[in-house]
Amino acid sequence: MKYTALKGVHDIFPPDVYVWQKVETTAKEVFSVYGFHEIRVPIMESTDIFIRSIGETSDIVEKEMYTFPDKANRSITLRPEGTAPVVRSFIENHLYNQPSPQKFFYSGPMFRYERPQKGRFRQFYQIGVEAFGVSEARLDAEIISMLKLFLERLGLTELNFEVNSIGCEKCRPDYKKALIDFFPDKVGGLCPDCNRRYTQNPLRILDCKVAACIELRKGAPQVINYLCIDCKEHFEEFQSLLRLLNVTYIINPNMVRGLDYYTRTTFEVTSEHLGSQKAVAAGGRYDRLVEEFGGPPTPAIGFAIGMERLVEILKTHNSTFRTPAPGAFLATIGNDAGRESLKIAEKLRSKGITVELGYEGASLKSQMRKADKLGANYVFIIGEDELKSGKIKWKNLKDGSQGEVGIKEIEGFMV
Ligand SMILES: [Zn+2]
Ligand SMILES: [Zn+2]
Repeated sequence: MKYTALKGVHDIFPPDVYVWQKVETTAKEVFSVYGFHEIRVPIMESTDIFIRSIGETSDIVEKEMYTFPDKANRSITLRPEGTAPVVRSFIENHLYNQPSPQKFFYSGPMFRYERPQKGRFRQFYQIGVEAFGVSEARLDAEIISMLKLFLERLGLTELNFEVNSIGCEKCRPDYKKALIDFFPDKVGGLCPDCNRRYTQNPLRILDCKVAACIELRKGAPQVINYLCIDCKEHFEEFQSLLRLLNVTYIINPNMVRGLDYYTRTTFEVTSEHLGSQKAVAAGGRYDRLVEEFGGPPTPAIGFAIGMERLVEILKTHNSTFRTPAPGAFLATIGNDAGRESLKIAEKLRSKGITVELGYEGASLKSQMRKADKLGANYVFIIGEDELKSGKIKWKNLKDGSQGEVGIKEIEGFMV
């Protein structure tokens, strides 16, 4: 019997896990100075939460959710994204009674039943932020600037910010109508998904990656030409603030985002480092969602970062991530030295020094090889003679220097 991980999931282990940790700590540091606080929401929720927020006609709800009945026959879904659970929590816990904006970040696994392919997983990880209670475009610009700072901190500078506005419930119907009027004689050539979208949610035809659909939508009406006065002003203010903050951006009129709940500002960040136009992060406003979910009218905006993709970029462009090496390796000969090494190790570890030991009566030679392989800074060699004299031999594996130190003085020597 050979056990393997499920299809489309992956393990994260050293040294890669150190890249993951770097991303997570950087996110925490950067988001904190913008006043974002961590929120931890469950991995599973009632299925209707996702159907309601993401939209029945979205790819996620139609094909990609991990949905199953629990033992009491309730329909449970493993979260395919983070916004819906955070919105559910925001309302359920009356967080709207706190001063606005309420700002949160989360990080963790999401689940989508997708066809596994390179860089796409069924359990994948996202770091995301959500800010509730402010509609003005300054918040949109702040969030973009925060995302930029975060990515720059990780060493990514070749970033493209693509922005768009997809209007509000006032102006979107006009645009939808214009789209429906544009496509009738082209519907036959669209992919089966877009055929369905044409009647259910024509905006999403603009997102489709199928070549025929890209071709057929050329010349389609653009949403920014259909914005109402308020949406137009909001989008213009947003852009002028991006310029104020020196964020270089381009308007991508086809970026409508795959989820139904977006309003006004949408954005994506792509990186030259990826070599292709793949987004590292994406987000937008969702001013109606909280209310539609049964909460008080509360404008909101957020984004999510795809961890796998980001880690991939960092790994190819930054080779400094590796498993941390121990500060000291204690090579021992004989039982008594082995016992003494435990005491020394504990002392050093309590001072924050990483210590590894030789085990299982390995020869001195093989212990030295192991220390070298681990990349230890110092090896201490402890045998019977050393125990008697109270002095042990050390060797610096980095520069080859060596000497002796009193057992009692090791702490001072290392710290
Ligand atoms: Zn509008
Ligand atoms: Zn299509």
